[in-house]
Amino acid sequence: MEHTFALISLGCAKNLVNSEQMLYLMSEAGFALVPDPDGADLAIINTCGFIDSAKSEAIDTILEVAEYKKTGSLGGIIVTGCLAERYKDSIERELPEIDAVLGVGSFTDIVKAAEAVLSRKHYRAFADNSAAVDEIPRVVSTGPSWAYLRIAEGCNNFCAFCAIPLIRGRYRSRKMENILEEAKDLAAHGIKELIVIAQDITRYGTDLYGHRCLVELCRKLSEIEGIEWIRLHYLYPDQFDDELIDEIAGNEKIVKYLDIPIQHINNGILKKMNRRGTGDDIRALFATLRARIPGLVLRTSLIAGLPGEGETEFEELCAFLKEARIERAGVFPFSPEEGTPAAGMPCVPPEEAQRRADLIMELQAPIMDDFTQSFVGKTIRVLCEGRDEESGLLVGRSYADSPEIDGSVQFEGFCPPGEFAKVRITSAEDGVLYGEEAT
Ligand code: SF4
Repeated sequence: MEHTFALISLGCAKNLVNSEQMLYLMSEAGFALVPDPDGADLAIINTCGFIDSAKSEAIDTILEVAEYKKTGSLGGIIVTGCLAERYKDSIERELPEIDAVLGVGSFTDIVKAAEAVLSRKHYRAFADNSAAVDEIPRVVSTGPSWAYLRIAEGCNNFCAFCAIPLIRGRYRSRKMENILEEAKDLAAHGIKELIVIAQDITRYGTDLYGHRCLVELCRKLSEIEGIEWIRLHYLYPDQFDDELIDEIAGNEKIVKYLDIPIQHINNGILKKMNRRGTGDDIRALFATLRARIPGLVLRTSLIAGLPGEGETEFEELCAFLKEARIERAGVFPFSPEEGTPAAGMPCVPPEEAQRRADLIMELQAPIMDDFTQSFVGKTIRVLCEGRDEESGLLVGRSYADSPEIDGSVQFEGFCPPGEFAKVRITSAEDGVLYGEEAT
């Protein structure tokens, strides 16, 4: 008899890749994927656990799904991912609804866990979270045109506020030949855009090959027929050199969109948070990148209310944002995470951290609106992703839109999903560009 499973993937893109790998393993083992835990034999919840809000979301999801178990319309619950890893000693005690639990080093045990739960046995596995990255095929869940390409796992940067190294282990690059083989396979299945991810992609190769290999990897990825866009996420600011900047500027397939999380700009805070480089280094880097890469779109991540952030330091951050006019920015209120150095440091109350985070987004809104408006009247290349159910228009993304976090382009036209269209932009609103396909 074919058993069914539902899979809920929470958290970041790296976690989604693990979910896609579990999808592959379960399907290979003959399990059928269903959209909803209600009525399924199994529910797999791949959790996030790096900050409070993510932990709450994961726990709420587990308890919600457990309601189906209580009513008998769900057989069993398997919890995987970062919340499981981080709280491996207490999660089953705290959440007795869970039937099986896998750490971030044990995704490959998903079928064993499923079979155990179906035969009413409990299952738990927590392999070394710093072991070599498992090379498992995946079922791409992100549609016909783009896919994440994870090139490494873990992190050695030990930013003082961050629990990820505790959860995801040491930095491990994947072998370049495995990454290229995966990219070729994705291209063969029609994927046009690769979103290159890790906790820190600038460090790619240092552990495995003894030197940074991101440039070499980008060159080889751009030689793959069918791949049109290579988008770089999670670049660490102090790891840029001329070779990398030249490659980004000169490689047509590398999208002129860079995600460079800086977290803050104040020297004292950067030092306290064990971030390498100073505020002036970041200013100089952004100025150099803008000078050397015309039309560059910068994305960054910020944390408001970090230990040591008084009014002066916060004002400095706001002044920097007004000056730098970063096109895409996300901000989190500081969340003291147990096990991290910053958790023990004095800081502003959570409400104040949230107030500052809201102020940053208020400050960023007109900057991002002006940027969006700057496309009106232009004709741009858009990767079509399908039709919007509500507007009935075709929908896609420009080079300035990374999937799932930025805006989109809605347009009249005839471009098939997964193909590129030339679109003349006629208006823009709330981060969405509107237009018509140019003939
Ligand atoms: S670079 Fe810093 S913030 Fe990012 S995952 Fe590593 S330790 Fe965490």
